[in-house]
Amino acid sequence: MSNLKTCSKCGETKPREEFTRNKSKRDGLSSPCKACRKAYKVANREKINEGKRKYYADNREKAREYQETNREKIAERKRKYYAANREKINEGKRKYYADNRGKITKQKREYDAAHREQRRNYKEANREKVAEQERAYRQAHPEKARAKGSRRRAAKRNALHPEHDLKREQWLHKLARRLERITGEPWHVDHIVPLAQGGWHHHDNLQIIPAKWNCQKQANAFWEPASPCPPWFRVPDIDDFASGKPRAKHLPN
Ligand SMILES: [Zn+2]
Repeated sequence: MSNLKTCSKCGETKPREEFTRNKSKRDGLSSPCKACRKAYKVANREKINEGKRKYYADNREKAREYQETNREKIAERKRKYYAANREKINEGKRKYYADNRGKITKQKREYDAAHREQRRNYKEANREKVAEQERAYRQAHPEKARAKGSRRRAAKRNALHPEHDLKREQWLHKLARRLERITGEPWHVDHIVPLAQGGWHHHDNLQIIPAKWNCQKQANAFWEPASPCPPWFRVPDIDDFASGKPRAKHLPN
């Protein structure tokens, strides 16, 4: 068999690798070349998506049946694809999120507002189940739960800084839990300038201190730590986040 084929669209003669496979064709290759197929897809994106949507709407039952009977196969295919393209996928997500930050937040807010009633009804009807799920989530992700709680409280007081980095706060809560395990006493993520005194809920205004200090601090505006930090403890600073993957490197294991 010749290694060349002529494209039905652009008329160029190209090597077989330049054509996608198509079992229904006699030579096993699609008629237009890859470049032409791609150009068509780009030029007709809207039309193609509309067609897909319509097909899906017309064949919803069939699609659902396929999904149900091939659950394992589909999951396996997704896993494989993700494993092979992890970097590309994550990079794409990061880029999309960075480019559309405002849009995404707005959509989320709108979706939340539109479904508030529905959510409340569901919660009401499934009180036990929801409570159990929430408990399990808090247990599995205590630092996320704590960060969420403190962010909510700050938002209530209008003290939530727009550039607050939730990831950093979560990391501080994680660190606090680790300190609890090491020292055997509770630690708090604390506002350096208290919210009550006009401090922002912002990652640079957060520190980790023993819980007993926190209580003294609240009782006394001219607060001084009563006991010194453990000698190995250093309040995490901006450099700990420079790598993008903060590590509690200054903590003993
Ligand atoms: Zn072509």
